[in-house]
Amino acid sequence: MSDREKLPFLVIGGGIGGLTTALALSRHGYPVHVLERADAFAEIGAGLQLAPNASRVLDRLGILDEVTKDAFFPRRLVLMDAMSGDRITALETGEQFVRRYGYPYFVTHRADLLRALLDACRDSDRITLAASKDVVEIIPLPEGARVRCADGSVYQADALIGADGPGSAVRRTLLPDDAAPVFPGYVAYRGTVPMADMSAALAGLRELRDMVLWTGPGMHLVQYPVRRGELCNLVAVFGSRRYRSDTDDWGTEEELDETFALACPQVRGCVEVINRDRCWQLFDRVPADNWTQDHITLLGDAAHPMLQYVAQGACQALEDAAVLADSLRTHDGAVAAAFKAYQTERYPRTARVQTSARDFGEILHIDGMGAKLRTALLSQRTHDDYSDIDWLYAYRAEAPTGRPAPTGRPAPTGRPAPADREVT
Ligand SMILES: Cc1cc2nc3c(=O)[nH]c(=O)nc-3n(C[C@H](O)[C@H](O)[C@H](O)COP(=O)(O)OP(=O)(O)OC[C@H]3O[C@@H](n4cnc5c(N)ncnc54)[C@H](O)[C@@H]3O)c2cc1C
Repeated sequence: MSDREKLPFLVIGGGIGGLTTALALSRHGYPVHVLERADAFAEIGAGLQLAPNASRVLDRLGILDEVTKDAFFPRRLVLMDAMSGDRITALETGEQFVRRYGYPYFVTHRADLLRALLDACRDSDRITLAASKDVVEIIPLPEGARVRCADGSVYQADALIGADGPGSAVRRTLLPDDAAPVFPGYVAYRGTVPMADMSAALAGLRELRDMVLWTGPGMHLVQYPVRRGELCNLVAVFGSRRYRSDTDDWGTEEELDETFALACPQVRGCVEVINRDRCWQLFDRVPADNWTQDHITLLGDAAHPMLQYVAQGACQALEDAAVLADSLRTHDGAVAAAFKAYQTERYPRTARVQTSARDFGEILHIDGMGAKLRTALLSQRTHDDYSDIDWLYAYRAEAPTGRPAPTGRPAPTGRPAPADREVT
């Protein structure tokens, strides 16, 4: 394809959101071109939790089986006290959960999800993908948009979708007066460790079969198996006491160790083996309801960057993609009307997820009497009480006037777990 060829749909960003959008549009018959800044379509980071609201989208796209091939299906989501090592509460994600939502909760390696999306995109003759295309300028046009890349190439399209993540260049064009990211001074260290190297952290227990979140004052640690249980995904999050906007000397490895020094041995064991190559700064933005302008719209973290505390950023990007594609079909390809309807449908939901993630972070990181009250309240819930999460997991991603999505089919529930001792 010539760089100057006029395209129908141009997606900026080939991450989870961008590739899912390309696939969803192609399934409705629309040709799509994707521009990715990196040299290759790849995901950095480690594990990813995908809830039923995301599985439902993957199923509609016909790639759920491929994505779950090497996934792990935790039996429970467990909240533990990082200081005492006691269990606070849990949510069963077994048969009852799958019956309720039609799909399982699963955890996967990011690379596995991206590979499945890429394979499906490459199989489609409606999708073209271009790496090493760093979009540096976006020019809105009355009936589309033109973009220029750092290498000088120029593309013009009837419709532009910015799926270029939390630092989105497309967002800067649409919202030049956007409020600055909200940065509470929290950082994350994350990566996978072979399960065989986890013996100290598992304190002699043979098997980790749950998604476990350890909560403590100003910190938490997430721990779950990926790749059929061969790897353990670890994410250690803490609020830096040394945070200052004019220096980089904060959120360091030393501070990681200091912060988790008072935690229970299982948590300290995880922090000892966690990947320290990179420290991720965590931020979100105040929800915005104006991320669409005529033939340009945003999607995923570009539209609604959120803290990862309820593990929904990627799930929301998947939902966005499905609703956007349905909206175009419902509006018979009338781009401006379809993009507007997509935003109208998505804004209230994504705003609620953004603010819920922030609130949940405060509950996780609370100290003193607040922590005692949290623990006392949460420990009274039953493990099959889904009332607080129905709104999140039961959502069906489709344009309001579109055709209903297929109903959930019987879904895999994971490998049977051997009956030896558990981590929780
Ligand atoms: C520690 C952590 C744990 C998380 N855990 C979960 C979880 O368990 N479950 C969950 O659902 N979510 C989770 N998330 C959130 C999730 O990772 C993101 O919400 C998701 O990756 C967003 O996808 P995206 O495609 O919108 O953006 P991104 O993944 O950021 O992709 C954007 C893409 O655009 C490209 N790009 C950027 N700028 C340009 C440009 N100018 N030109 C061309 N290309 C460009 C980038 O290279 C990138 O490939 C987590 C996040 C963090 C930080």
